[in-house]
Amino acid sequence: MLEPKLKVAVDYEKCHPEKCNKGVCAAVLGCPTKLWKQEEPYDSPYPIPGFCQECGTCVDSCPLEAIKIL
Ligand code: SF4
Ligand code: SF4
Repeated sequence: MLEPKLKVAVDYEKCHPEKCNKGVCAAVLGCPTKLWKQEEPYDSPYPIPGFCQECGTCVDSCPLEAIKIL
């Protein structure tokens, strides 16, 4: 079975986890379908394939506007 394509992306030039709450990515916390991963606080977050509702929560929750819907 084909994996669903990623619907979101991070601009790593804009993403600075150290500027987020205790290094925890707000998108990781906010995504209703848990499509964001961050191994440890202060690590770079990344999206994983899955059923993205395209709700925009991750985009809206990032204070540095580092996330976009593709
Ligand atoms: S909320 Fe934005 S700036 Fe903060 S770690 Fe997540 S993507 Fe990066
Ligand atoms: S758009 Fe919504 S469902 Fe898709 S990755 Fe962002 S928060 Fe999760």
